[in-house]
Amino acid sequence: MAETKETRAAAQDGVPANFIRQAIDADIAAGKVPGSVVTRFPPEPNGCLHIGHAKSICLNFGIARDYPGAACYLRFDDTNPTKERIDFMEEIRGDVRWLGFDWGERLRHASDYFESLFGYAVRLIESGHAYVCSLDPGQIRAYRGTLTEPGLDSPYRSRPSGESLDLFMRMRDGEFEEGAHVLRAKIDMASPNMNLRDPVIYRIMHTPHPLTGDVWHVYPMYDFAQALSDTIEGVTHSLCTLEFEDHRPLYEWFLEVLDVPSPPRQIEFGRLNLTHTVMSKRYLTRLVDGGYVDGWDDPRMPTIAGMRRRGFTPGALRDFCERVGVTKNESAVEFERLEICVRTALDPVAPRAMAVLRPLKLVIENYPEDAVEIFEAPNHPADPSLGVREVPFSRELFIERDDFMEDPPRKFFRVAPGREVRLRYACLVTCTGVVRDPRTGTVVEIRGRYDPGSRGGKAPDGRKVRGAVHWVCARRGVRATVRLYDRLFRDPAPDHDVERLAQQLDPDSLEVLESAVIEPALALAGPGARFQFERLGYFVADSRDHAPGAPVFNRTVTLRDTWGKVRKRGADG
Ligand code: ATP
Ligand code: MG
Repeated sequence: MAETKETRAAAQDGVPANFIRQAIDADIAAGKVPGSVVTRFPPEPNGCLHIGHAKSICLNFGIARDYPGAACYLRFDDTNPTKERIDFMEEIRGDVRWLGFDWGERLRHASDYFESLFGYAVRLIESGHAYVCSLDPGQIRAYRGTLTEPGLDSPYRSRPSGESLDLFMRMRDGEFEEGAHVLRAKIDMASPNMNLRDPVIYRIMHTPHPLTGDVWHVYPMYDFAQALSDTIEGVTHSLCTLEFEDHRPLYEWFLEVLDVPSPPRQIEFGRLNLTHTVMSKRYLTRLVDGGYVDGWDDPRMPTIAGMRRRGFTPGALRDFCERVGVTKNESAVEFERLEICVRTALDPVAPRAMAVLRPLKLVIENYPEDAVEIFEAPNHPADPSLGVREVPFSRELFIERDDFMEDPPRKFFRVAPGREVRLRYACLVTCTGVVRDPRTGTVVEIRGRYDPGSRGGKAPDGRKVRGAVHWVCARRGVRATVRLYDRLFRDPAPDHDVERLAQQLDPDSLEVLESAVIEPALALAGPGARFQFERLGYFVADSRDHAPGAPVFNRTVTLRDTWGKVRKRGADG
């Protein structure tokens, strides 16, 4: 989605302007908003929320935050008991709160309104605007017609309202099989808008509801329930995604025939989509149920729970939603743009630390066998208020395997035979040789000598040493598991075919390193603590599996956009 100049400029001022806010402003100016602005966020509790929902949350709760006296309801759209669960409601409440929004007293469920909604349906029947139809589901479909042909009136369309009313009451009480009857709005079977061809507004379901149990045997359909739940709550602006544009005439029809005072106004906006992932809960459910990911909060998932576990911050998600803005456009936003927001959020606050992901031992031959020395390192290069930490150093250290090359090109400013390099915060070391595995010939250890005059990392004579690498003391360092995450789907635009989803997953999207080594201070971090591992990226202590003594860190994001580079290389080559 293109970031327009307006959205960016406004976001920087802390006042995100968008076409919806402009529409609300115009309604207020025209005197069409009797009290204060009221919005709602209406998730269906059939899965966890994803970043698309975050956009809707930021929009709706953001309006409630910014308009005087305004409010936003968190309303669970729990009208389909076969798919909805209490535990998803709990997760969703946690996600909204984590994102930084508060519904106050305004937590509702569509099921809170079942009695009122039923009353509205009765009024529709009594006023001749709805009838009980006894065609079977296949017949209803066949009578509906197509986009090019009008539908046919149901033979039950002229059923007397007294008879419909009697049947509807008995449907409610559970007298009939599922599918035996439905309640339909009586609108226009020839309408070019298929949604107006006598849509079903109530169906029979005998599945117990997670909150109302077996009280109800009929459940309202989405459009009817939305329009009237909005009405009951006094919603002034009902904001939804573009696929509901064609449903707006139906939404307005309900409000009109029921003669609702101050009817809410529906406005549609473009869905947020991200590259390298799928968004809809239908697909995400498939990934979870098929065991392709480690649950809804797998750090590769585009869910709020997954991003939280990955170490993304709520501020980064809000910033991202603000930057992509609210438009009528639906193209996918590059995942890289989300990562930029995450880096921007973490850079000023994440304490620095050293960790070695793929260790290679470095033995400093001229350093005493038993000594352990403590060096001080700043927790943040730009923020002295974050203090310093103590980093132990000894004769045996680990460096990153990638930071050593036996036969390097000239500009390799890291560890190589005969070259001098800085061990961050500690000293200057010159590599003097290697030790090989006698069978395979691979380098298993490197040897070096340090300059005792360079303690703290400065050359005594001011000579220039360009390379600087991170390291961890082999004696005091702690073994850790580190998980590296990459894009869930290699293709930026995965095929939205449920059957082909699993085959499109990137098999390398998770790499688990079991023998990483971290600074001892890191092993004491609590779950959820975020750090920058110097030269490597941002990492978070896993909220489920990390324990002091058995550390598990997830890579949140690399320091630079490696994906952008890969793409560029692909384009150049
Ligand atoms: P999904 O396809 O993921 O199930 P949904 O729209 O069915 O999405 P709901 O729980 O019904 O999910 O959505 C709650 C609210 O979030 C709705 O108002 C919906 O319009 C909004 N929403 C859902 N997906 C997105 C998205 N990708 N971008 C912006 N808003 C979204
Ligand atoms: Mg849905």
